[in-house]
Amino acid sequence: APAEDPRVVVNAHGLPYLDPRLPVDRRVADLLSRMTPAEKAGQMTQAERNALRSPGDIASHALGSLLSGGGSVPTPNTPEAWARMVDAYQLRAQETRLQIPLIYGVDAVHGHNNVVGATIMPHNIGIGAARDPDLARRTGAVTAKEVRATGVPWDFAPCLCVTRDERWGRSYEAFGEDPALVTAMATVIEGMQGAPSGRDLDRNDKVLASAKHFVGDGGTEFGSSTTGSYTIDQGVTRVTRQELEAVHLAPFAEAVKRGTGTVMPSYSSLDIIGDDAGPVKMHADAAMINGVLKGRMGFDGFVVSDWQAIDQIPGDYPSDVRTSVNAGLDMIMVPTAYQEFTRVLRAEVAAGRISPARVDDAVKRILTQKFRLGLFEQPYADTTHLDRVGSAAHRAVAREAVAKSQVLLKNDGAVLPLRRSQKVYVAGSNADDLGNQAGGWTISWQGASGRTTTGTTILEGMRRAAPDAALTYSKDASAPTAGHDVGVVVVGETPYAEGVGDVGNGHDLELSDADKAAVDRVCAAMRCAVLVVSGRPQLVGDRLGAVDALVASWLPGTEGDGVADVLYGTRPFTGRLPVTWPKSVEQLPVNVGDAVYDPQFPYGWGLTTLAKPSPGGERTLKAVSLAVRALEAAGRGDSPAAAELVGRARLIVQAEIGAGVSAASAKPFAEAEHLLLSGKPSAAMARLTTACRAA
Ligand code: BGC
Repeated sequence: APAEDPRVVVNAHGLPYLDPRLPVDRRVADLLSRMTPAEKAGQMTQAERNALRSPGDIASHALGSLLSGGGSVPTPNTPEAWARMVDAYQLRAQETRLQIPLIYGVDAVHGHNNVVGATIMPHNIGIGAARDPDLARRTGAVTAKEVRATGVPWDFAPCLCVTRDERWGRSYEAFGEDPALVTAMATVIEGMQGAPSGRDLDRNDKVLASAKHFVGDGGTEFGSSTTGSYTIDQGVTRVTRQELEAVHLAPFAEAVKRGTGTVMPSYSSLDIIGDDAGPVKMHADAAMINGVLKGRMGFDGFVVSDWQAIDQIPGDYPSDVRTSVNAGLDMIMVPTAYQEFTRVLRAEVAAGRISPARVDDAVKRILTQKFRLGLFEQPYADTTHLDRVGSAAHRAVAREAVAKSQVLLKNDGAVLPLRRSQKVYVAGSNADDLGNQAGGWTISWQGASGRTTTGTTILEGMRRAAPDAALTYSKDASAPTAGHDVGVVVVGETPYAEGVGDVGNGHDLELSDADKAAVDRVCAAMRCAVLVVSGRPQLVGDRLGAVDALVASWLPGTEGDGVADVLYGTRPFTGRLPVTWPKSVEQLPVNVGDAVYDPQFPYGWGLTTLAKPSPGGERTLKAVSLAVRALEAAGRGDSPAAAELVGRARLIVQAEIGAGVSAASAKPFAEAEHLLLSGKPSAAMARLTTACRAA
């Protein structure tokens, strides 16, 4: 057995685990056989970089991992400084006996969002609205390129939460409310990591993903919490076993298939209806982590805890440590008390309350990913690629994502797209605010209003799209004058992360008074389009009548040009609602498939501005062929796939109105889509047959 004494220096060079020609499992086995209990405990420990008492602690505690929590950034906050920072920590890890590299992790949840100048993607809710799995894959690839260029090999993303109640402050981190949609967007993992086998991870443009938060984070009940009366974040998810499987577990099964290298459990608790167990904290849930994730799903990566989450497990600290590790957690995001954690972990092992085999399994899983990432060969940043961060090519992908994420909810009198000859009056709190359109998890954890990084606001995008157009801007919509052809009012939320979000708005999804006043003033004076820049639906209520066009812009990120693209018709609106848009907060939770379902706009809704009509109405044929495929899918019992196909067909048919297609014949497509999503496939198929005949 290797000596406990850290002063015993072994010349690591030449040992089998350092030989890149050997298969990863042999290298892992060799390294593991040389490790002391202290070194093993260190591998299972993740500290926050700001919590380090001294950089020397990396070596003296044999730390396996460091993270930058949201907004934990170097000074200056540049890509170069990030690479230097991570390299300096790696250098410390090289001072250890076995020279095991660190694995550094960040939350790059919509692009490399901690870094000034990086490409900021739309938050996931917008990616869900775009409904384009290939686009999701490409956004993941761009994020990975920028993150790895700064020396960071690990990203705590994607969030595969299925959001069931938009009062949750993390709703925008979800791709949507429908498990099929969230599952389809798991392609982002492939963009980040490459092949499911992990063989691409050592490339200088790939990172390890972390599917989070396992499981049920988006399903917590409003008001049900052990820590507060109002907490929907980190609360309790009460579901039947069947709901758990179909709604919340399904996206994780897909993530495992796609080879996600890590999984992060949820802060929330799970209460399975019909089981007597009562709510169990996910970080203590052996049945779910050991049983379902690692057992049934066959997840062979490692499980990293959420920030200080084990502290929430009932009991004292030693009990938190043994409960979580025995439940299947492999690495603990401590993130400050790393000395105490390693000491307690070793004591629990020494006392026989955590088996050495469990520790070996955890360390094996962690080392496997480190070898796959190529960190033993190249622990440092490949700084030749720093110019990838915020590059024009990356911004072009983000701009495409923004354009495809925009959902046109209403468009009376075809107010949109705008014409370049029109005199436009632009107003509202979010028309010219880069920080607001990027939302939370941007430069700082909570995000902030104002010009926090480089990019283009929606107003700037509009000016670039129509440089010769007469455009007046007034943030507060003071005295909108006559003489404008159309008003564009951009309203919505200010940034937040986690919790319930946007506390100033009272968690009620209401627009602020200033936003309401701006909408009222502009829409009373001229024809108007209202854009809602927000992480979730906002209630428009009676105002909807006064608004000619309504757009859900979500949180588009740094590329305001993408919004301008659809406003001016350079690209068509094609986005569709990834969540149900409620009429009132009393309707919440409201989700597609509910027995009672009467929202303002249903899940999947979205109009298009595809150029119309097509020559000879040939796109109608395309729509019919999509509808026929939808019928086949519905016949197989695959309603989500059928609804997806009908949704595409509907957009096409709507664009063909006028080219031999009447508005009335577009309607049955919308109805069929709605019936499919409401769990009424036979009625939907009947409607669809009528729709095809009419078209
Ligand atoms: C969040 C995680 C995140 C972690 C590290 C936690 O507060 O819940 O999603 O990955 O912090 O920053």
